[in-house]
Amino acid sequence: MLKTKKVLSLVLAFLLIASFGVVPAHAEEEGIAQPFYIVSCPSGSKHYMVARGRGTIYAGPANNPGPAVLSNCFVTQCTRCHLVLASEGNMYDSGIIGRYATWNVGMPVNLFTFIYGGLHGSFYGNKATDPYWSGFEWH
Ligand SMILES: [Zn+2]
Repeated sequence: MLKTKKVLSLVLAFLLIASFGVVPAHAEEEGIAQPFYIVSCPSGSKHYMVARGRGTIYAGPANNPGPAVLSNCFVTQCTRCHLVLASEGNMYDSGIIGRYATWNVGMPVNLFTFIYGGLHGSFYGNKATDPYWSGFEWH
């Protein structure tokens, strides 16, 4: 009887260890161990945004821009991948994105940037809890 209890407790101990071994692997599969933000910067990290002056967003293409849809907006740019963000809000003041456009320009921009193709959307929520915007850091 005593021997059966010992064997049973050994089996239970083994099962406990085995089940603990399964938990981390399962968590990785579910993406729990992954960062919660979308890694949108090709650097593999967050976009490292710095101030690049002001800009204007036009509705049409560069050869036929049409009216400005957002004039004198705030421009920041990722120093790692050169993604430009032109936003209605100032990231160093209110921190609210507002209406915006992004542009993969592929090189540094300066002082004043013209962006074509219209707005890409608007965002007034909490950047820290948003999967897309939490992938940006402003410096
Ligand atoms: Zn980037």
